[in-house]
Amino acid sequence: DSADFDEEVESICPFCGVGCQVSLKVKDGKVKYVEGINGPANEGRLCVKGRFGFDYIHHPHRLTKPLIRRQDAPEKGLNVDPGNWQTHFREALWEEALDFAAAGMKGRGREIAGFGSAKCTNEEAYLFQKLIRQGFGHNNVDHCTRLCHASSVAALMENVGSGAVTATFNEIENADVAIVIGANPIENHPVAATFFKQFAKRGGKLIVMDPRGQALKRFASHMLQFRPGADVSMLNAIMHVIVEEGLYDQQYIDAYTENWEAEKRHLADFSPEAMAPICGIEPEVLRDVARTFAGAKAAMIFWGMGISQHIHGTDNSRCLISLALMTGQVGRPGSGLHPLRGQNNVQGASDAGLIPMFLPDYQPVTDDGVRSAFTKVWGTADFSNERGLTVTEIMDAVHADKIKGMYILGENPAMSDPDVEHARAALAKLDHLVVQDIFLTETANYADVILPASAFAEKTGTVTNTNRQVQMGRPAVAPPGDAREDWWIEVELAKRLGLPWDYQSPADVFAEMKQNMRSLDNITWERLSGENAVTYPSLSPQDPGQAIVFGDGFPRPEGRARFTPASVIAPDDVPDEDYPMILTTGRQLEHWHTGSMTRRSTVLDGLEPEANCSLHPSTLRKLGVAPGEHVLLTTKRGSISIMAREDRAVAPDMVFVPFAYVEAAANILTNPAIDPFGKIPEFKFSAVRVEKA
Ligand code: SF4
Repeated sequence: DSADFDEEVESICPFCGVGCQVSLKVKDGKVKYVEGINGPANEGRLCVKGRFGFDYIHHPHRLTKPLIRRQDAPEKGLNVDPGNWQTHFREALWEEALDFAAAGMKGRGREIAGFGSAKCTNEEAYLFQKLIRQGFGHNNVDHCTRLCHASSVAALMENVGSGAVTATFNEIENADVAIVIGANPIENHPVAATFFKQFAKRGGKLIVMDPRGQALKRFASHMLQFRPGADVSMLNAIMHVIVEEGLYDQQYIDAYTENWEAEKRHLADFSPEAMAPICGIEPEVLRDVARTFAGAKAAMIFWGMGISQHIHGTDNSRCLISLALMTGQVGRPGSGLHPLRGQNNVQGASDAGLIPMFLPDYQPVTDDGVRSAFTKVWGTADFSNERGLTVTEIMDAVHADKIKGMYILGENPAMSDPDVEHARAALAKLDHLVVQDIFLTETANYADVILPASAFAEKTGTVTNTNRQVQMGRPAVAPPGDAREDWWIEVELAKRLGLPWDYQSPADVFAEMKQNMRSLDNITWERLSGENAVTYPSLSPQDPGQAIVFGDGFPRPEGRARFTPASVIAPDDVPDEDYPMILTTGRQLEHWHTGSMTRRSTVLDGLEPEANCSLHPSTLRKLGVAPGEHVLLTTKRGSISIMAREDRAVAPDMVFVPFAYVEAAANILTNPAIDPFGKIPEFKFSAVRVEKA
């Protein structure tokens, strides 16, 4: 009823990478409720987070003034009450806070590093990487892609020539077979999952592969609950069958790929019979899946963090790419490779160059011509040609006294890093920490200065979803108190660092981005303002964008994609007598990442108010623990006490812990060992001991 609101504003849901378009209904300067509108990804649908998870933007904990750490503050650490921060910080005017923030960083070159945010806009991500590169002359700038799909991107860049999806998830409408592996879309990409369910109801064959059972199983033609960490053995066995039975697409392989003979030779050692004891799936099931996938007219592969967050995450993705290439399942309607992106703008922030090895559009920092194209537009001197440090390497460099100051925008490493006590100790050690956020997060607890920023409903800017759809976000309400849009804060800091920045609006930033980002060709601010979304690549000013790419070759030498064989590598932290079970972590439907927003949303927090872990009923019985009682989880890194739930989907030797809860932070337990290519930590596998608390 239109009387319910004064104004309605179209924007984009701030949570997951699906990128649902929303209409924000505003009354008396506040967002009252939210409805889904007809965006290309969501077609009017929303999940519980998009529908009900918005009232955090009006939460009393919002930062409304810049804060500077008091001279007489207690030691840095997780001891600040967000409702009573005055013992640690004092309020400051913007002028003083910005001067203080910049003075602590200016002229310190490699001693300063930056974490930007996948929750900010493309323009803000672009400005952040530019500020570090131009302001400090190096590439030590990264964001949470390092913790989610860095290994997928490494494999896609290596073998396909592009890190983005080859087809939108909506293309499943045109498929007859789909694999969903290492992803739990009903909880983590719920609106995308509605398309997957419809596909199955129409008769599409849905092959779900995951060490943890999940609700999508009900719609699956095949459910392969394989052993944690055994992805390569299972996928190679499936590909072995395709080779053995001659089910591959020789014509496609000849026309569009390279290194096939090496892949074929490599797969000879991976018979289903040899791999079944490793992956825990019967040979006949592996053969049936191989025949089903290879026999598809059009097939897609979707994957998530279950694939990427391993020390062999890049190998896992290499296998999925090989499977699609050998069956010719890329570049046609209903076919493709689709890593489901986590954060709402992790695709866009990566595209905008918020990563240590690439400038915008994945142009390597090591290439002199690339850097010179950027410094020409930026009007400043060259910067380092060395790849920068990644998220976890930056924390190690703090401990090694190489990095002494950080600028952190909208990231929460005090909750999200693996072996989080190591990250917290690094944050405490810094001599200058600038945190820009909307709440006094666990990371802001360690800050020397906190700059109050804007939530999605308070800002203008573009974001890019998992489908490569660049979408326009618009402000519906004003930021609280003196809080400001993130791009404005970045510009004011840059000016104080001596950089010649004079952007007047996000549109100015977008115009500059277009100068060195071919992915934005034919996508203008005006188009996005009018059309809300354009998919890249867009081939003309009228083209809504290409849902499917690489139908006629790949952006690699000679237009050929590559097969890169993968061998079985054991997880880093294998169970033993002291730590006999396997810990895996992830999200749950109601909470978003480190919980800073969703735990301040009334409905979502009401649905899931308490830290919890999931254990199989037989495990609980063995431990003598009733559901609802607490268990103590201990790994080589630390211990947490957490409420146990009964969940038949979890294997008897596993425990699943969501990472949203500070009072039982999952990342106290996780293993910081990283994949050598994507540099992503092994969040999905740690040896753990489970005891009655
Ligand atoms: Fe938001 Fe993702 Fe839910 Fe869509 S599916 S409403 S983008 S959280």
